[in-house]
Amino acid sequence: MTALSIVVPCFNEQECIRSLHARVTAAARERFGDDYEVVLVNDSSKDGTWELMRTLAAEDPRLVVVNLSRNHGHQLALTAGLDLCRGDVVLIIDADLQDPPELIGPMLDLMRREEADVIYGVRTSRAGETAFKRAAAHGFYRLLSRATEVDIPLDAGDFRLISRRALNVLLAMPEQARFIRGMVAWIGFRQLPFPYHRDERFAGETKYPLGKMIRFALDALTGFSSAPLKLASQAGLLLSLGSLLIFAYIMLGWIRGGTVPGWTSLMLVVVVLGAVQMFVLGLMGEYIGRLYSQAKQRPLYIVQDIIGAAYEPGREHRLGVVASAVGPVAVEQEGQQRGQHDVGNDRPPRRLAEPFD
Ligand code: UDP
Ligand code: MG
Repeated sequence: MTALSIVVPCFNEQECIRSLHARVTAAARERFGDDYEVVLVNDSSKDGTWELMRTLAAEDPRLVVVNLSRNHGHQLALTAGLDLCRGDVVLIIDADLQDPPELIGPMLDLMRREEADVIYGVRTSRAGETAFKRAAAHGFYRLLSRATEVDIPLDAGDFRLISRRALNVLLAMPEQARFIRGMVAWIGFRQLPFPYHRDERFAGETKYPLGKMIRFALDALTGFSSAPLKLASQAGLLLSLGSLLIFAYIMLGWIRGGTVPGWTSLMLVVVVLGAVQMFVLGLMGEYIGRLYSQAKQRPLYIVQDIIGAAYEPGREHRLGVVASAVGPVAVEQEGQQRGQHDVGNDRPPRRLAEPFD
């Protein structure tokens, strides 16, 4: 075990990685000396992120770098890191340095003083984000808190400090559609807010375009609330009452013998009903789709390479798969080990994983 793990999901963050590594290392060292690890998870970036990670890992024995087999998305990349880390206390932080790693000291002090299991960062202000993003986040957190049964803190991201026992509970939750900040809130224990100012992105663009934001919001809503399903039955009830009125109106017209042109009202009913039905069907689809993907019970993440303490006993994981059998490079390496190819081959043998110091 290590005292502290810092877990960072990274997607196309090559401009940020070096500064991230430097700042996170300095902050951890100040408090923990050598007793920490930094787990960087490469979510199959298209830029030079992975190469950079490997270079850094070659120089820094405290670094564990994990390469996912394809883009899994922020929450699953984070899950992989959390599942593979070994710290007694775990700090979750984004790669873009919007959340200052230097806060680890004060956050830890608060955790110890108050005997809390989770210290979550709450953004008092956000710099350098578009008005749309701020408004969307603001509206989203408020809608979520109205719709869900769990008390998910407002304006808190994934930037947080978690104790090992709380993390173990989190890792015992096998759901595929993961909304980690909500899941942590659901766990319970003593959880305290830590207000801070959210900086601008250190470099690069946001890795959360609108599509990903919507999916994230839907995962949060469906994962923590069945209120949308109730919406369907409520709408159904309302419409049924409405149609009773319409029925009465029609009967009245019939009794009076008045000619009923009727086209407008007919169209209105057809259109409204059609729209509501489609909406409700879509809502149910969101839940059914998630049920389906959960029913398949696939691993949550697939690790292609891991450099650091990969196969050291104790680096257990429960939610994903870490490729450990022979890959394309290892075939060559096995040959070398058996002494078949090493004559005249001056390349150093490559290992899939280096032992952790
Ligand atoms: N990220 C990831 N996979 C993705 C998208 C994002 O691992 O598919 C990471 C990203 O590198 C960053 C974190 O998730 O460390 C949050 O993303 P970002 O900072 O772009 O989101 P924002 O702060 O704009 O909401
Ligand atoms: Mg960010």
